[in-house]
Parts: sequence; C-alpha cells; structure tokens
Amino acid sequence: MCGRWQTQPVCQACQRSWRIELPRCHRCALPWPDASRANACAACEARQPEFDRAITALDYLPPWSGLISRFKFQRASGLQGPFVGLMADAIRQRPHRVDLILPVPLSAARLAERGYNQAWLLAKGLGQALHRPATDRALVRNRSTPRLMALDSEERLRAIHGAFQVSPNWVGRLRGRHIALVDDVLTTGATLDEISRLLRQHQVAGISAWVLARTPPPDAEASPPSGPGDQGWR
Ligand SMILES: [Zn+2]
Ligand SMILES: [Zn+2]
Repeated sequence: MCGRWQTQPVCQACQRSWRIELPRCHRCALPWPDASRANACAACEARQPEFDRAITALDYLPPWSGLISRFKFQRASGLQGPFVGLMADAIRQRPHRVDLILPVPLSAARLAERGYNQAWLLAKGLGQALHRPATDRALVRNRSTPRLMALDSEERLRAIHGAFQVSPNWVGRLRGRHIALVDDVLTTGATLDEISRLLRQHQVAGISAWVLARTPPPDAEASPPSGPGDQGWR
C-alpha cells in the first residue's frame, strides 16, 4: 500500500492507518452511528439476519478491495497472515462463545478451478489465532451460484436455496454448538443467511458471521476513504 520495502505484504503502519474503525451494527456489521445506544440498525430491526451477530475487520473499499481480490485469486499472495490478524483483532473486541469455526465452502468445481478456498485460509488461521477448532469438512456446497449482488432479493433466494448441505459425517455433531461462519466478503448476507438456516435445522446453539470485509451500503460506495499513501493509488 505505501510502496516501502517490507517483509510483509501489508506493513503494520498501513494496517493501522487504513483500518477504519467505525461503530457498527452488531447484527449485520454495517456502519451504524447509534451502535452505543442500540446494537442493531434499523434494517436489522425490521428484518433480522439468520445469524446472531456479524463481525468484520474491514470495509470492502479500496485499497482493501484490490488486496482481497488478490487474496482470492492468487494463491501465494502472502495476505493470509495480515488478514487473519485484522479479523482476530476485531473478533477479540466482541467476546462471545464459539465452539467450531466453519468456512463458507466452494463448490467442488470452483475449488478445482481455483485450487484453494480463501474462506478456509481465513478460518484455519483464525482457529490457530483464537485456539478454536476449525474444519472445512462439515459443510458442502452442491453448486456454484451466480454473483448474488446482481440479483434482486427473490432471485437471490432462489439461486442460493438448497446450495449447501451438512456433510453426512457431520450430521448430528453440530447440535448445541456455537458456530462461527467465515467468509471473505459480506455483501447481501444471502449466502450466510442460507447456511445459517441450514445450521439451525441441525440444532446449532448460536451462529456468528466473521468476515474480512463488509460491503458498504450503495450510497457509501461512491466515496471511498482516503488516507496516507493514497496518491494515485486507484
Ligand atoms: Zn505500508
Ligand atoms: Zn444491521
């Protein structure tokens, strides 16, 4: 980000100065100025997400959005360490019980094409950082889904409905557990909602969504933050 020679792909100074700490809705992790008075934003009061809480490390805005694409499509990006560190910091600020960490799975076809699941890299790193078990074996994705953002809410539901299942080995082993679902980016919440509905059918006790970045609401996307080292970056 700053262009200085570093041993890490994102130096500590950049991690600090580009991390925008905002009061956020405890349910959906969108910026929410009244978070100190009411935990959930107006949208979540009207329609609650299927998960109990969402925690994000970052907003999905430049320069992070560029680095997140690199993390997603370039296996040896070196970004796992810094990203896990940022997420672990955010999670530690909101203590809650978690017994098992699960990444949002890729379909077998997508996994074969990409070679790795970026959500699993995050989940595995968080398991180590937070001393919790993590597995990418419990959830299965039956099919890839189109980019959900382009769909309206009804099309989105149809596209995602039934896309996931609990793998046969794990049926009966999730009951009563507090689950953390890990994904790289939270945008509409449709994917995490769908998996949460599935987990509830398997009698889990609680669901936390841990994401690396939260897509801001559409009106906020027009004005990405600027910070040190941003000259000509975009
Ligand atoms: Zn830097
Ligand atoms: Zn909310």
